[in-house]
Amino acid sequence: MPILARVSVRSVERLSPSFARIELAGDDLADFGNDGPSLDQRIKLLFPAVPGVLPELSGENWYAEWLALPEDERPRMRTYTIRSVEGEGIEKRLYVDFVLHPGAHGPGSDWAGAAEPGDEILVAGPKLGEPYGGIEWLPGDATRLLLVGDETAVPAIVSILESLPADATGSAFLEVPAADDVQDVVAPEGLEVSWLPREGAPVGGPALAAVGGLLGFEATPEDVTSVEVEDPDLWETPDYSSSGEEVSAPANGSTNGSTTGEDGRYAWIAGESRMVTALRRHLVNELEMPRKQVAFMGYWREGVSMKG
Ligand SMILES: Cc1cc2nc3c(=O)[nH]c(=O)nc-3n(C[C@H](O)[C@H](O)[C@H](O)COP(=O)(O)OP(=O)(O)OC[C@H]3O[C@@H](n4cnc5c(N)ncnc54)[C@H](O)[C@@H]3O)c2cc1C
Repeated sequence: MPILARVSVRSVERLSPSFARIELAGDDLADFGNDGPSLDQRIKLLFPAVPGVLPELSGENWYAEWLALPEDERPRMRTYTIRSVEGEGIEKRLYVDFVLHPGAHGPGSDWAGAAEPGDEILVAGPKLGEPYGGIEWLPGDATRLLLVGDETAVPAIVSILESLPADATGSAFLEVPAADDVQDVVAPEGLEVSWLPREGAPVGGPALAAVGGLLGFEATPEDVTSVEVEDPDLWETPDYSSSGEEVSAPANGSTNGSTTGEDGRYAWIAGESRMVTALRRHLVNELEMPRKQVAFMGYWREGVSMKG
């Protein structure tokens, strides 16, 4: 059962041109969070449809109550990642890193770009001590890791990197709009972190080309522009397929991806749907990487509003 927390902005830190880190506080956060590291834990944020007006939704039936609200009053729901949770009890703080994309307006980015201390939103997320789901980072016993994402996946990737054991190896590619958006990260020595400032290249293009360079398939950044997204809700993980592909449960019945295959590889890829689609074709169709060793997640779509 998720917690629905009413939270207010405590502080806004502009990390870089494209990122704002927002500190959220509220008594309802006392039981919020994960029992272990939050990794790529996704949460739902609900932004006021009418500035400053946030309806009361009761804990248990909040989703049905939210749906029943008239469209023009219904808070706009979008998906984000826990960047971190700090403190205890009613002193707990939730930090979320928002991508600001002022060129294409959306309630999430617009709210974050204008956020001031005291502004309120609702957060639906995990409750301590209760199963919740929403973590897709399941490398099991894989020894060679590949993480790929654009700016929307930076909070998840940075959080995952911070949690890895010191002997983890592999590569992480983080595509961001500009060189000023590069962040300092904590990562194991054997895991090479490459930031890919886009600087006007097509969204997802630099990541596609960089992964091609690593894995040995031909791709230029421009190739991403001709990719057709057939599955608008692209979400392919070892135990879920948005396209309805058959998903086989791990042989040991576990859902923690521990059957990672003989080559010990595991890939986690998230971001704009064209980039994710293109990488899926290369990794699964061309390089024949087994489905159980990869997670492909369309976090957003250029030109499309991700209505919750
Ligand atoms: C599991 C998951 C975790 C996510 N975590 C984060 C996170 O931690 N931080 C974060 O910022 N986002 C994150 N996202 C992505 C975020 O949900 C989308 O970017 C969402 O579209 C933002 O909502 P919006 O209201 O700003 O724009 P929308 O109303 O959804 O879209 C309006 C317009 O803005 C465009 N747009 C949306 N996102 C971007 C972008 N990044 N750059 C340029 N144009 C854009 C759309 O294409 C559309 O044209 C996550 C998504 C998922 C599925």
